[in-house]
Amino acid sequence: MARKKPFDKPIYVTRPLLPDLDKFNQKLQEIWDSQWLTNNGKQHLELEQRLQQILKIPYLSLFNNGTVALIVGCQSLRLSGEVITTPFTFPATPHVLTWNNIKPIFCDIDPVTMNIDANKIESMITPQTTAILGVHVYGTPCNVIKIQEIADKYGLKVIYDAAHAFGVEINGVGIGNFGDLSMMSFHATKLFHTAEGGALLFKDHNLKARVELLKNFGIKNEEEVVMPGINGKMNEIQASLGLVLLDYIEQEKFQRQQLTETYRRCLENVSGIRVIPEIYGITNSYQYFVIRIEQELFGCDRDYVHKQLKEYNVFTRKYFYPLCSDYPCYKYLPSSSIANLPVANQVAKEVLSLPLYGGLSIDDVERICEIIIEMKE
Ligand SMILES: *Cc1c(COP(=O)(O)O)cnc(C)c1O
Repeated sequence: MARKKPFDKPIYVTRPLLPDLDKFNQKLQEIWDSQWLTNNGKQHLELEQRLQQILKIPYLSLFNNGTVALIVGCQSLRLSGEVITTPFTFPATPHVLTWNNIKPIFCDIDPVTMNIDANKIESMITPQTTAILGVHVYGTPCNVIKIQEIADKYGLKVIYDAAHAFGVEINGVGIGNFGDLSMMSFHATKLFHTAEGGALLFKDHNLKARVELLKNFGIKNEEEVVMPGINGKMNEIQASLGLVLLDYIEQEKFQRQQLTETYRRCLENVSGIRVIPEIYGITNSYQYFVIRIEQELFGCDRDYVHKQLKEYNVFTRKYFYPLCSDYPCYKYLPSSSIANLPVANQVAKEVLSLPLYGGLSIDDVERICEIIIEMKE
């Protein structure tokens, strides 16, 4: 059945970026010497400062993971009622709302960027709406200008799940500067990571103290606990891994850029395959390489390609599928109907995330493309 030769070793959709172990051990030695493992240690402080610079953001708070960061983000802005968001995202996005006792309202997505469709947000606003929660899917920014206009008109807050958007800038402005706050995830599968970890990014000085309290049980000092906070702290070992990895990011990005260009060159002109366009003035996060397979033109559907690739030892991901609006916990919501989400339902059937990590060779990527193209014939 298989005409092209399968890969000898499995090719996964991603592999975590790992630093030279000796360099990490040096950092661990520092931590051991300090006998300080968590609660605003030296590594934590240094990582916060370095990321503030790299991401061009006035304030940044580190967290033990991106999901807890976003839960705290909603709390810090005192959101309640309903929040308008996208169904085309990772489960964490709507779940964070649910954990804040907020009802997610799903808005359809833009057919090109696959982000929340800013032109459809206004019709979903009710007296209960308190915020818009956009996701910069695959690192492509949402229509931040239009979303802010709507928010200003109706007095809503704006939050972004920027988990895919490490290092993304719009005309030189760090992505975290848009909206009231943004979350980044430093999970092992993300380009920059701390094994598990995350951050909130914001511009408002007043938010910093509140976020810091909320992520440490609401403890103000030895004698006062001023609010029902949670434990969202990043520890020194996580922070030190991040610090060591920062030296590897540019090289990893360069390699991913070469691979991305190879994918584009091989797949761009195949009818039935759409690659995500590069947008002028926007930096690529090189977090994922995602294609869309249009069954009518390509001849077979995304599910077939995903399954067939496994026969060749290539493991891709249907990212994002299923839609959040199809989870049993959200299916009952009126905004989850297919009639409300026609574009999202179509896109979720077409997307396929292909392997992308610095350890792949250009040759590997060319072979993966050949295997995909052969399915068409
Ligand atoms: C990875 C990811 C998250 C969750 O981040 P964690 O750090 O794993 O909690 C949230 N949203 C999106 C879009 C993600 O890709």
